[in-house]
Amino acid sequence: MMEGVPEGDTVWQTAARLHAALAGSELTRCDLRVPRLATVDLTGHRVESVRARGKHLLARFEGGWTLHSHLRMEGAWQVYQAGESWRGGPGHQIRAILGTEARTAVGYRLPVLDLLRTAEEAKAVGHLGPDLLDPAWGESSAQEALRRLRARPDRAIGEALVDQHNLAGVGNVYKSELCFVGGVTPWTRVADVPDLPRMVDLAHRLLEANRERPMRVTTGETRAGRTLWVYGRKRGTCLRCGTPVRSGDQGAAGEERVTYWCPHCQAGPAPAPSPWRGGRDAQRGR
Ligand SMILES: [Zn+2]
Repeated sequence: MMEGVPEGDTVWQTAARLHAALAGSELTRCDLRVPRLATVDLTGHRVESVRARGKHLLARFEGGWTLHSHLRMEGAWQVYQAGESWRGGPGHQIRAILGTEARTAVGYRLPVLDLLRTAEEAKAVGHLGPDLLDPAWGESSAQEALRRLRARPDRAIGEALVDQHNLAGVGNVYKSELCFVGGVTPWTRVADVPDLPRMVDLAHRLLEANRERPMRVTTGETRAGRTLWVYGRKRGTCLRCGTPVRSGDQGAAGEERVTYWCPHCQAGPAPAPSPWRGGRDAQRGR
């Protein structure tokens, strides 16, 4: 489950798949299974594009409509050919069906699904920080991300990195890996991170590098078991130094996520080890 948590690159791949399947074609089927949208019918409208903005998906339709969705932890969009059976989950988990003559896109367990005017997309995504996968990412985007991160210098860097208001696209996996490469624990204050610009630059480069890759690689190695430095290696050891990797929850109450770090390679504050921690992580990490 944790491996499946959508990060910016996963959402980007979903958008690319939906775009390839739907863009340029007219909708022949439109079924939005959330009460507020139950009467909406976009059939006959041409799909103009499907794009990712941070971890949000924006499907634009002729006539100036945008269908906005967000996968959060559990959502997924699948694309099927005519006649192919749908395997994304039981029928009651389907929130959206968008069909063209050749393809059908099915949205499962989407926690966020809204229809808005394309001109008003900012209502859904305007709060986001610079998008790490924006083709126009550049020096000014990096500066803006740094400005937003540094606005709260006392915050833990791990929490600041996953806050999409600061920069859009980092999820739980990249958070752990970026802190590793930055040499700091996820509980280090933003102000105490020795080279924050390098961390932002790396976030951009890692997401770019993994954008079209089925697996997520932060180490430069694609061999199984060598793709990540610390994330998910809870029974394992740090890929660099062999020290047992530690894990602990981080995040606001109710939104805690498991974070991994190497106590040897990463300096800074960390929660005290607790004897029951391993068992709990093992359960949550399934
Ligand atoms: Zn290490």
